[in-house]
Amino acid sequence: MIAVLKNSTTKQQLDNFCEWIRAQGVDAHVYTGEFQTVVGLIGDVTRVDADMLSGLDIVESVKRISDPFKSANRKFHPDDSVINVSGKTTVGGDIFAVIAGPCSIESEEQILEVARAVKAAGATMLRGGAFKPRTSPYDFQGLRADGIELLLEAKKETGLPIVTEIMNANHLPLFEEVDVIQVGARNMQNFELLKELGKTQKPILLKRGLANTLKEFLMSAEYIMAGGNENVILCERGVRTFETYTRNTLDLSAVPMLQELTHLPIIVDPSHATGLSRLVKPMALGAAAVGADGLMIEVHNNPQKALCDGPQSLTPAQFDDVMKAVNRVLTAI
Ligand code: PEP
Ligand code: MN
Repeated sequence: MIAVLKNSTTKQQLDNFCEWIRAQGVDAHVYTGEFQTVVGLIGDVTRVDADMLSGLDIVESVKRISDPFKSANRKFHPDDSVINVSGKTTVGGDIFAVIAGPCSIESEEQILEVARAVKAAGATMLRGGAFKPRTSPYDFQGLRADGIELLLEAKKETGLPIVTEIMNANHLPLFEEVDVIQVGARNMQNFELLKELGKTQKPILLKRGLANTLKEFLMSAEYIMAGGNENVILCERGVRTFETYTRNTLDLSAVPMLQELTHLPIIVDPSHATGLSRLVKPMALGAAAVGADGLMIEVHNNPQKALCDGPQSLTPAQFDDVMKAVNRVLTAI
């Protein structure tokens, strides 16, 4: 349930109002926008009398909302959220974020070479997997803690904030200097992991699950936010369908739909969505055109020799070309 307050409401009246709501066993979240103050009533609101609320002097209107996601809901928070990553790097709002780098960190030489190249092309963040969720236990599992060390080295040299995936909450101490923690598609509904990440204040890049609805996606964001961490970035990375020519099916309609439903920023990963490097550019352009807040693209200095996801990885030169084309689309729209 949300209560929109009249412009004339004083701070004291707002505090009294929230106290009164909390006394009924319901949490009150205040959102102070430029023109309006909105109070979100979160919890079991069945006992709250909406007519009584509407009758209060300071209340302009009251709406019952049935969406199960509250903190992520745009109704409570009409303005877009801008997530501060580090320094001047943000996701959401006016700046288009581009996260680029290899699927997995393989060596010092590899990550440094890719980091320099993606920075030169205009990437705003560097990615690289240290803990890899592989379908087969016999495939390369990532360099784990050593991989994070190498990623930190690349961060130090280039100044690019870093993004890497967590698979187990016990590894959190290793992520202290990581700027954005990624939750991969396979862990989107690992609720215990989401709860632990909710206790931190780190920006979380939450990828859509392989076969999850947008409501389930937002409920996973809600798990993190309900724990007190509002710094969630959503990532559409394609979903599994009956199609087999592409690795997944990129759901670009998720971008405008999510923008209606939530204030959280949404980026698109055309690499995992298609599985084919030649499809990355057209889908990246599509993502920019439909209003995504950014992209995540896999780039490798030698895709043919990549230990993971080579077929979908761009060379640095191909990435540079994509960046130029994406910028033209952004200028055009
Ligand atoms: C990744 O980003 O490297 C990854 C494993 O992606 P996803 O979880 O979307 O498959
Ligand atoms: Mn990958």
